[in-house]
This record gives sequence, C-alpha cells and structure tokens, in this order.
Amino acid sequence: MLKVDLHIHTKYSFDSKSSIEEIIEKAIERKLDAVAITDHNSYEGCLQIKQIELPKNLIIIPGIELRTKEGDILLLNTMHRFEKGLSLFKVLEVAQKFRIITIAPHPFAITQPGIKDFIKLEEINAVEVINGRDFFGRANYKALKAAQGYKKIGIACSDAHSADDVGNVYTLVEAEQSIASILNSIIGGKIKIPEQFLPSKFWSKLGF
Ligand SMILES: [Zn+2]
Repeated sequence: MLKVDLHIHTKYSFDSKSSIEEIIEKAIERKLDAVAITDHNSYEGCLQIKQIELPKNLIIIPGIELRTKEGDILLLNTMHRFEKGLSLFKVLEVAQKFRIITIAPHPFAITQPGIKDFIKLEEINAVEVINGRDFFGRANYKALKAAQGYKKIGIACSDAHSADDVGNVYTLVEAEQSIASILNSIIGGKIKIPEQFLPSKFWSKLGF
C-alpha cells in the first residue's frame, strides 16, 4: 500500500514557512509515496513544483485548501481558480463539473473553520477524520463518528505547517503509483488509516 499525506502547506500559506524543497526532502525521508500541496487559497506552492527537479519516487498532487462561506474544503488534482469566500455549494458544483476531488478537512475543529455536517453532501468525496494538528483528538473523534454515521470515507492527513510535520500522519492507499490511481482508490475506499493515528478511546469513555 502507498503512504500518502494529502494535506500539506508551504510558505505560500501565511501560517507556514517551509519551501517545497524542504517538504519533498522530508516526504522522501519519511518514505511517503505521495503528497498533496494544499495552501490556503493559493496555488503558489503548486506553481513551484514546475520550477524544480522532481524526485522519481514521490508523487506530488496539486491542490488547494479553500476557505468557503461554510468552512474549509480541500480540492485535489486541480489548479482551477476559485475565489476565497464562495459558497461551499458553488465550489462543489464546479468541482463536480471538472471532476475535482473534494475532501472535508478538520470538519469539527475549533481553531479552523470546518464544514461540520455538510460532510454528508454527496459531492464530498472523503472526510479528513484524522487531522495531525488536533492535539487533543476530540475534533478527530467527532469527525470519525460523523463520517461513520454518514457512511463517508475517512482519511488521515498531517495538515503539516512545517516540513517537520510532513508525514506525521498519513493514509495507506491501495493503488498504483499515479495520481489518478491514488485518487480513484480514495473515492473507492481502498484505504486504511494506521491504528496509531486513531483517536484515543478516552473520548468514547466520556460519552462523546
Ligand atoms: Zn490546512
């Protein structure tokens, strides 16, 4: 299975300082097979991919973490121009039209806007049930439960804001080494979240 981390920020996000080269270096060190570059409302990091020599053994998927009126949405394998602040529904309509993969990042996070119960929408391909920046694990636990309830595919991502965090959290995908194969497997649920990333049973004991 391939190790993929589909939510990574570069220095072109206001809250990250890492260059694309540092991210690639760390991804290779951590033996990832694929990463997605998903800056906040920007493709600047993705544009850098074209400027540098790419390693043969790492697939890089261009994408974006777009702030919509309803919350953040990850759009993968695209560089389609979207205005920040559009309605989620409009973005999903365009995504459907251009076959852009849609993932709901950190849907129940407190510190970042998530789209919460909109994850049930048919146009949402997968839900980030494990976000590497949820240090207490409560929002992840809620996301996992909600995704199970709505029968949505759940994936795990680092949401790295520094190269050091790249691959801290990842998803295993049963796919061939191509962007299309990886994304098809995600939509088809041919994935596995390693046990060590799943939220602590602590939350279920408290009755959440
Ligand atoms: Zn993010």
